[in-house]
Amino acid sequence: MVKKKSKKQFIKICPKCGSTKVKMPPAGMDLKLTFRDYCLDCRARGIFPEIEKTKVKDFQKKLKKKR
Ligand SMILES: [Zn+2]
Repeated sequence: MVKKKSKKQFIKICPKCGSTKVKMPPAGMDLKLTFRDYCLDCRARGIFPEIEKTKVKDFQKKLKKKR
């Protein structure tokens, strides 16, 4: 029997602009200093939420509705 594995891919997203161009701190480096994510589009820093890749568009829609 073959079981289908539904792999959910999670991706970091910027809560401010909805961009997924988020730089993640490289693992294994100075953890205390590199704990923040960094948005390449709006340059926001912080700990960004991770959402499913398929929900990125929903997230971005919601962001636009707020304004
Ligand atoms: Zn951003």
